[in-house]
Amino acid sequence: MFNSLVEAKRFMEEKHIQMVDFMMIDLNGRWRHLTIPADRFTEDTFKSGIGFDGSNYGFAPVEKSDMVFIPDLSTAYVDPFMEIPTLAMIGDVYVIDVPNNRPFDQDPRNVAKHAEEYLKKTGIADEMRVGPEYEFHVFDHVSYSTAPNESSFYIDTEQAEWNKEDRDFNLGYKMPHKGGYHMAPPQDVLYDFRSRVCMLMEDQGIRVKYHHHEVGGPGQLEVEVEFGTVTEMADKTMMTKYLIKNEAIAEGKTATFMPKPIFDEAGNGMHVHMQLFKDGKPLFYDENGYSQLSQTALHFMGGILKHIRALCAFTNPSTNSFKRLVPGYEAPVTIGFATANRSSVIRIPAYAKDPDKKRFEIRNPDGTCNPYYALSAILMAGCDGIKNKIDPMAEGYGPYDFNLYNLSDEEKKQIKSLPRTLDEALDALEEDHDFLTEGGVFPEKLIEIWLINKRAETKKQSMMPTPMEFDMYYDL
Ligand code: GLN
Ligand code: MG
Ligand code: MG
Ligand code: MG
Repeated sequence: MFNSLVEAKRFMEEKHIQMVDFMMIDLNGRWRHLTIPADRFTEDTFKSGIGFDGSNYGFAPVEKSDMVFIPDLSTAYVDPFMEIPTLAMIGDVYVIDVPNNRPFDQDPRNVAKHAEEYLKKTGIADEMRVGPEYEFHVFDHVSYSTAPNESSFYIDTEQAEWNKEDRDFNLGYKMPHKGGYHMAPPQDVLYDFRSRVCMLMEDQGIRVKYHHHEVGGPGQLEVEVEFGTVTEMADKTMMTKYLIKNEAIAEGKTATFMPKPIFDEAGNGMHVHMQLFKDGKPLFYDENGYSQLSQTALHFMGGILKHIRALCAFTNPSTNSFKRLVPGYEAPVTIGFATANRSSVIRIPAYAKDPDKKRFEIRNPDGTCNPYYALSAILMAGCDGIKNKIDPMAEGYGPYDFNLYNLSDEEKKQIKSLPRTLDEALDALEEDHDFLTEGGVFPEKLIEIWLINKRAETKKQSMMPTPMEFDMYYDL
């Protein structure tokens, strides 16, 4: 938003800004924040930065936890939810060094910037442009308890339904099971909510493509946005999730990007469409190629498919992620590509026909990812595909233009599966991560820390008795 502190100060004066808020991204991809009074926002904020405890961000051990945050003025915005007029901004993390602090190589924004620089350096393309799709649930009410000594924990969700208070009267307008896609009012009770969110997004410079009700109703929603570069879209993903969650709270509801909040309903994906450009020209189009895709596009796709099991450790990094990747809910379960096939992990939209619109989407990612790591990992896998000319057809990844949820035993032997659990994905990452550490984009240390942290999560989950276990075993 601003090019200089002078410009920012002028704006702050005009808008009576009282506080300056720094939005900082932790290892798992949560926004945290730290605030200073407006008059403390000076040249020194950029020179010395703001010291913080990196151990609470998952970035550093407690005995080496001093880190520094330096805000990025170009990302400044006025926070629409704060009562006190507040200018907020994202920024970058540095490690302490003498005489000059060094950019922290595991900082999510830094990884994303390095990935983009790497792409340029290889000469493959000047930029990768990505278009994420955000699926999420809005509930009227959620409560759960996970107290450590409470073996049976409790989840209670109440979904938004038309005339909920008056169910006897409203027996006619129920959202059908698996039937909420593009549903209109009166079943769609969240039109105004989505519209308000999209207006807030537009205010923040996020161009909305469209919004609609999703399959897994009532209350499963989607917002799609226009394409942007990797760091830009990771920043915009953080902002979008912030706006959705806070607007929900402001309206007395709660929003979640959990991949599978409800058993036997559609889960929440974060599909990512992608394109490469060089000298302003799109690289993915060739009128004679499969589905009008160029060789470059196919190689990029080949790299993604080759490394997809390892990629899942970043694109689907929660135990809940794998409850979504099951047959029957338009989420992928196998490794392959196809045109217009929503059971496939890579889908080429049949309706995107113009050269500058030619693209494909990866469908396994979900909203529990750290978008900086996830998008960077996809970029790195694609680059590996181009460098090693990985041809997805020759590798046997398709095209699979049939329903991949109903495979014969013979097909099951041929078509490989995505990981079935987070542990499987972590094992894959442990074995296959040279494509990420290439050029120093993902530091070896980050992979190590990611594996340790995520394994701790799977271990905790595996030791936790669940309500379903009570249902199945209590009376045995
Ligand atoms: N919700 C599905 C998923 O989990 C996608 C459904 C759709 O976009 N039509 O990926
Ligand atoms: Mg969509
Ligand atoms: Mg969708
Ligand atoms: Mg999609």
